[in-house]
Amino acid sequence: MEKKIIVKEYSKGDFTVVWKPRTCIHAATCVETLPKVYDPNGKPWIKPENATIDELKSQIDNCPSGALSYYVKNK
Ligand code: SF4
Repeated sequence: MEKKIIVKEYSKGDFTVVWKPRTCIHAATCVETLPKVYDPNGKPWIKPENATIDELKSQIDNCPSGALSYYVKNK
């Protein structure tokens, strides 16, 4: 049986952070790198508006589990 993949999305304009909770290993690299964006106690816990797109991209590329990714909406 196929496992359902849960995907959460957090947008900042045309930029969207994608997070897969079942893939996340809670290494907290994101929380340590960008605490203003990733707050495990916040609702929502990812607030992409608190960093630049470049900061978000470089953080996302460093997520050790691949739980984080992003896409940019094309106009
Ligand atoms: S860096 Fe990736 S694996 Fe670590 S807590 Fe954040 S989303 Fe999860």
